[in-house]
Amino acid sequence: MIDTGADWHTHSTTTDGQDPLADMVAAGAAAGLHTLGLSDHVRASTSWLPDYVREVRDLAASAALAVRCGVEVKILDEAGHLDLPSELPALDYLLVADHQFPGPDGPIHPDRVRTLLEEGTWDVASALDMLVTATARALAASPVPPVLAHLFSLLPKCGLDERQVHEEHLDALADACLATGGWVEVNEKWRCPGIPALTHLAGRGVVVSAGSDAHRAADVGRWDYVPAVLRELT
Ligand SMILES: [Zn+2]
Ligand SMILES: [Zn+2]
Repeated sequence: MIDTGADWHTHSTTTDGQDPLADMVAAGAAAGLHTLGLSDHVRASTSWLPDYVREVRDLAASAALAVRCGVEVKILDEAGHLDLPSELPALDYLLVADHQFPGPDGPIHPDRVRTLLEEGTWDVASALDMLVTATARALAASPVPPVLAHLFSLLPKCGLDERQVHEEHLDALADACLATGGWVEVNEKWRCPGIPALTHLAGRGVVVSAGSDAHRAADVGRWDYVPAVLRELT
């Protein structure tokens, strides 16, 4: 059900990882993967993306496993805008991530969301509605096949809990995934989303993929949380 032979979420020295792309590819082969996704962080201002894609394609040509080129991008706002450069080279997929809270007018730091909730300016239901709406719209806005990266990792940072997420929220995300061909990632590093959410999404027919979120070669394709999820889903 979840293919642990494919790791779709890794970072290299191109952004905040510790090892170069070539070492990540070698580590993927050493871990016995059949597919490795390279997915460094981009922003709208990123200028190195064409060079990155070229380097990944060069590595893929001589690699012992399939190498795919993605990037990780944050959801900016409630409208679902993505922090992507305006001109994109050909990418295989996009990791869509909630690194900041996608507010009505742009990203909001999770600490600020926590304060808004504590002082009663925001309520939990509206905050979750906003996050889910933004996430579903971001999937639709992706110009290439999207993967929901570490879904709900933002919640604890905002003082929220995944158990507060309703079935309607999960259904909205499932609908968005099914409409866009999007997948949901089980993230090894952040150990999310939780098993109830993944069970619901998988039950709706959403593809669940594995991502280590490795920032060093030693963590590529190494699973602990993912097999635990897999046991629950099957
Ligand atoms: Zn991330
Ligand atoms: Zn990441």
